[in-house]
Amino acid sequence: MSEETNQQLYQKRIPIYPRSVKGRFRTLKTGVLVLAYLVFFLLPWVRWERLNAPDQAVLYDLPGRHFYIFSLTIQVQDIFWLAGVLIIFAILLFFVTGLAGRIWCGYFCFQTLWTDLFMMIEHWVQGERPARMRLDKAPWDREKLIKKGGTYALWLLVAFWSGLTFTMYWVDAPTLVIEFLTGRAPYAAYFTTLFLTLTTFVMAGLAREQVCTYMCPYARFQSAMFDHDTLIISYDSARGEGSKGRAKLGKGIKTREERQAQNVGDCIDCGYCVQVCPVGIDIRNGLQYQCISCALCIDACDAIMDNMKWPRGLIAYTSENALNGRKTTLLKPKTIGYGVILTAATGILIWSVLTSAPYTAMVEQIRQPLYTRLSDGGIRNSYEVKLNNKLTVPMTVAVRIEGLPGATLDMDGMERLELAPQQRIKLLARVQLPPRQDDDHEGRERREHDGEREKVNFIIEVLEGAKTAPIQRQVPFYLPEGD
Ligand code: SF4
Ligand code: SF4
Repeated sequence: MSEETNQQLYQKRIPIYPRSVKGRFRTLKTGVLVLAYLVFFLLPWVRWERLNAPDQAVLYDLPGRHFYIFSLTIQVQDIFWLAGVLIIFAILLFFVTGLAGRIWCGYFCFQTLWTDLFMMIEHWVQGERPARMRLDKAPWDREKLIKKGGTYALWLLVAFWSGLTFTMYWVDAPTLVIEFLTGRAPYAAYFTTLFLTLTTFVMAGLAREQVCTYMCPYARFQSAMFDHDTLIISYDSARGEGSKGRAKLGKGIKTREERQAQNVGDCIDCGYCVQVCPVGIDIRNGLQYQCISCALCIDACDAIMDNMKWPRGLIAYTSENALNGRKTTLLKPKTIGYGVILTAATGILIWSVLTSAPYTAMVEQIRQPLYTRLSDGGIRNSYEVKLNNKLTVPMTVAVRIEGLPGATLDMDGMERLELAPQQRIKLLARVQLPPRQDDDHEGRERREHDGEREKVNFIIEVLEGAKTAPIQRQVPFYLPEGD
């Protein structure tokens, strides 16, 4: 491939040096960032007493196939809850994006949160935008080595602790840290932590806005969720440009009145909105797919307008309809529809979690053989009873049968048993039907010829450990076919 073709296919990254900014949206973003980090970094350290698993409030115990979230234990068979959560998130994304645009990207996305922190570190070590630009252009001297090295070292530390924290969600956090630092942790823990350290370092430190611009699929398909009423961040070009376009402050166009008299707009072309933009775009050129809706350009322009004592809002949250002088309607059938589906899906999931039984019980017929004729003429069917204590406390369970007059249950004395916390157990159950004394010859012949099938109900009841209704499982009881 020729060098010329290479140049067409690959554009070298133009470094972006975002300037810091103060304002309401920056404060909001910092608040979200602090809250998100507190939750992510502290959650694995929150203790929660458990009898059969590490005392960790949030733990994804893969070998034990249990997910613990405080008092909720999610087992493999509850995986539909996870599907429910994913569906809810998908609807939420459609709902929020249709309403407020890329608010997820600007405030909550992991890439945004980690890039923001990495930029704060960079700013703290290397200084404000001009100082960082100077440092990048400067030759590699002692100062540059210390500042660049210090930045990378701190990035690496944050990336490492982020990777290790993620790993802590899968094992007991204090044990992992000790084992990790003493070289005794499982291989998977080292691999996961190393992988996440490197990806965090590269994505948040080096690639930054390129992840949003080139790698993230959401940036590409979000436009399908936008409509004319969706909140977007926009520059009021009519107010900013006047009929003569942007003009810096100068002789005769310093005050607003002078500028209006000269048909010059309110944008003083200071470039502050461009300098604060983490993706390096100029919002004055219109809505662009790179914009992550972080609203920092609003803060920047508001600061300039405050300084000039002119009204705020030259850059603001608005909608395409508002820009075209039409009314913005937020409560549209589409939005209401998403809201209703979202509420219903969330309600169903919460109801399903709250009403889930503390234990599960299954009864399956053993079909080889389907029945056994006993020497006294009685008939026996065998079953496999599977019990699963989903709680983190022991549970006493009793099994009995109903619905088949005269039948007896034999479980080798396990008709009443104690299940350890989260114990799963399989038991053999035999149901025996004695020969019918009152059965006349004709009736027995008919039943046997038809291969008659009766029904038996297994009643599984918790005696101690939980308060819940008994579980009833109805299974067939087979009689011999005519022989
Ligand atoms: S910050 Fe406001 S005044 Fe300054 S260039 Fe941007 S839009 Fe114009
Ligand atoms: S244009 Fe404004 S809202 Fe969009 S990414 Fe840049 S600073 Fe954030």
